[in-house]
Amino acid sequence: MKRIKSINTAINSNNKKPIVISGPCSAETEDQLLKTAIELKKTNKVDVLRAGIWKPRTKPGNFEGVGTQGLKWLAQAKKETGLKTAVEVANTEHVYKALNHGVDILWLGARTTVNPFSVQEIADALDGVNTTVLIKNPINPDLSLWEGAIERILNSGIKNVGVIHRGFSKYGESNYRNPPSWQIPIELKRRYPQLTMISDPSHICGNTTGLLNVSQQALDLKFDGVMLESHINPEKAWSDAQQQITPTQLEELINQLVVRTPKQTVSKKTIELDMLRQKINLIDDEMLDALSQRMEISDKIGTVKKKEGMQILQTGRWDEILNRSIIEGKSKGLSKVFLINFLSAIHLESIDRQNKIMNNEINE
Ligand code: PEP
Ligand code: MN
Repeated sequence: MKRIKSINTAINSNNKKPIVISGPCSAETEDQLLKTAIELKKTNKVDVLRAGIWKPRTKPGNFEGVGTQGLKWLAQAKKETGLKTAVEVANTEHVYKALNHGVDILWLGARTTVNPFSVQEIADALDGVNTTVLIKNPINPDLSLWEGAIERILNSGIKNVGVIHRGFSKYGESNYRNPPSWQIPIELKRRYPQLTMISDPSHICGNTTGLLNVSQQALDLKFDGVMLESHINPEKAWSDAQQQITPTQLEELINQLVVRTPKQTVSKKTIELDMLRQKINLIDDEMLDALSQRMEISDKIGTVKKKEGMQILQTGRWDEILNRSIIEGKSKGLSKVFLINFLSAIHLESIDRQNKIMNNEINE
C-alpha cells in the first residue's frame, strides 16, 4: 500500500507523539465550543480540535447536531487558538460545507464506514481534494469493511489517510461501551504498516474511568495518538456526557501517558521479554492441543446425540458448563466477562461441529 502517507506531518510538523485530538462530542453553542477550545489550547497538549456538527444518533429524538452554523464557530475557534480542526462527515454536502469553512481534517464515523454507498459518495466528493481523512472502524468487527473504506478513500486520490479505532459494538456483557477487540487494529497495522492509527478511548470506554488505561494500552500497541472527547462542562453535555472530560483532566491524562522509545541495544529487559514471549507461545500451544482434544470429544457427543435423536443445544448442560467454569476461572484470577466470551466461543464452535455431524458433513 504505497499510497498511504503518514498523516503525522499533516497534523503536526515535528512528528510529536502522541498526536492528541480533543474537543466536545458535539458543538452545542458558540460559547461552549470557544471556551473548550481556548482551555484546550492552554494545556499545550492538543494538536487538533474535534467537534461533531452532524451527529448520527442511533435513535431519533436525540440531539442531532447544530449543523452548518457550528462550522462558523469552529472556524472562529481555529482563528483564536491556531488549533487545526476536525469534523465528522457523512455525505457530499457535509464534505463541501466542511471544506468551504476551512476544516483541516475530515473523519468518517463508525456508522458511515459500514456503508460502502456512503463511503463511495464521500470518496467521490473528495476527488482531487488535498486534505486529511481519518476513517473510524465500522461499528461491527469487520476488518474488510474498514479496509474497503480505506481503499475507497485512497482511490479518490487522498494521500493523507489515517484511521481511528473506536471499538466495536457488542451484544451482552462487557466492561466497555464498545469493546476494543485489539486484534482487529493490530491486524490492520500488520497489513498497512504506514497507516497512522489514532485510538478513541472515549467511545471505547463510554465512561471517564477507563480512559487512561485504554490510552496507554493504545500507545503500547504503537498507536500514533489519541482522540479524547472533552467539554468545558461535561455534566451538561448534550451528547455523550458520561465519557467527556474537562480540558484540565485531559492535560492530567496526557501527562500520565508513557511513550516508550525502545533502546537500540539488546538490553536485559529485551531478553526477559523474549523469554516471557516464548513462555506464552508454549502455553498457547498447550491450549491449542487441549482445545483440539475438547473438540474431538464434542464430536463424539455429536454422534451420540444424532443416534439418540437428541437436539444439539442442551441449555441445562450449557448453564452447568458456564457456571462451573466461571467459579473455577474466577478463583484463578480470570474475569467473568472474559470467561463468558471465551467459553461462548468454544461452545459455538462445538455446536457448529455437531451441526455438521448431524447433517453428515463431518465423518463420525
Ligand atoms: C463521535 O466521534 O462523537 C462519534 C459519533 O463517534 P462514532 O462514529 O465512533 O460513534
Ligand atoms: Mn461522541
